[in-house]
Amino acid sequence: MSFTENFNSSAKFFVEQLAQESGHEFQSIAEKVLNHERISVEDGIKVIKSNDLPVIGQIANFVRQRKAYEVALRKGFDEAVALEHTKTVWWNTNLHLNPTNICIASCDFCAFAKKPKDPDAYTMSNEDAVERVKTARDEGATEVHIVGGLNPKCLIDYYADLIRAIKKEVPGIHVKAFTAVEIDFFKKFEKNMSYEEIFDRLIEAGLDSMPGGGAEIFSRAVRDEMCPDKIPADKWAEIHYIAHSKGLKTNATMLAGIGEEPEERVDHLDILRKAQDKSLAANNPNEGSFQTFIPLSCHYEGNDLLERGVKPLTGQDQIKNIIVSRLMLDNFDHIKAYWIQLGPKTAQVALNMGSNDLDGTVKAERITFAAGSKKRSMAEEQLINIVEGARLISKERDTLYNPIELSLHRV
Ligand code: SF4
Repeated sequence: MSFTENFNSSAKFFVEQLAQESGHEFQSIAEKVLNHERISVEDGIKVIKSNDLPVIGQIANFVRQRKAYEVALRKGFDEAVALEHTKTVWWNTNLHLNPTNICIASCDFCAFAKKPKDPDAYTMSNEDAVERVKTARDEGATEVHIVGGLNPKCLIDYYADLIRAIKKEVPGIHVKAFTAVEIDFFKKFEKNMSYEEIFDRLIEAGLDSMPGGGAEIFSRAVRDEMCPDKIPADKWAEIHYIAHSKGLKTNATMLAGIGEEPEERVDHLDILRKAQDKSLAANNPNEGSFQTFIPLSCHYEGNDLLERGVKPLTGQDQIKNIIVSRLMLDNFDHIKAYWIQLGPKTAQVALNMGSNDLDGTVKAERITFAAGSKKRSMAEEQLINIVEGARLISKERDTLYNPIELSLHRV
């Protein structure tokens, strides 16, 4: 039985009515969505430029529900569980570990990076990092998310040793680590190694998946202005493709509010959509491919972007980024409302407008905190309250979206 045959929701009825409403500006998008047709870049621009949140939010809400249903069936869950997943918001208990803040790059929006002689510069020892992971594990963490500055003293040997030490001391923990920018940085110092060999080495040490950072905005003009040291879009996508070919799940991000135009956000999504098409054509969707898209919002403490005239995102812009990403990224399973950047209240609104994930408890998040985020971690009860306040079902997950009661990490 198909989703549309057996699933009743106000969002579905709304989209059906809209598809029949001749002359409505979103009629053709509603029709495409109902028919599983891909919306175009022009459609995406129309959505991101609209202020009609009730309409575009309902369309995205329907897509969120249907996607959750289809993903659950694809992963082998039964009909009843698939229906429950249409109302489910996922979150996990994780530790963000930033082993070094020393970085040779200079991204204008970054308040985290320090130069080596800066009194606040640090590099963790393996022992220190492992202790933090152990503590987080004892508090229920199932994942450690590792990203750091581009530090020439922290290359593949440092990180392979670090991952190995973590896996030895905390064997069940999932290691999600290294942006594509970091992988490329390691390669610059390992002239004889290909990206494939770098991944082989890290996977052998215990790497389980990759986060989605370093994407920022793919627009060349914005990248040249804001983060000229970062690899371009095609290199970023190539590195993720290689990770997928190795069987890794990876994520993708977009950092908005750094001077880009709305059209450049939609172009960014189109690049990701095409990259995912390529990986899905080559790999099993339950194996190597993008898993989750995370729209990020720039914070402005510790940088001068506001003085330079960059317009910050409004709450409406943030919600629209969720909506348009759910509609454009028809081949991504999950859209995350990253509460640490959106704030808990905006994140809660996003849950009924396209997002089905809240990230996690994010213990010890340093990067956004350095740029002005007010919160560094959130208790599990608070996350559950956010979800239930949106009249949805809260479920803890592992990194690969297995409900935590089924997770190997806790058995
Ligand atoms: S965003 Fe990353 S690469 Fe850029 S300066 Fe900060 S730590 Fe370095």
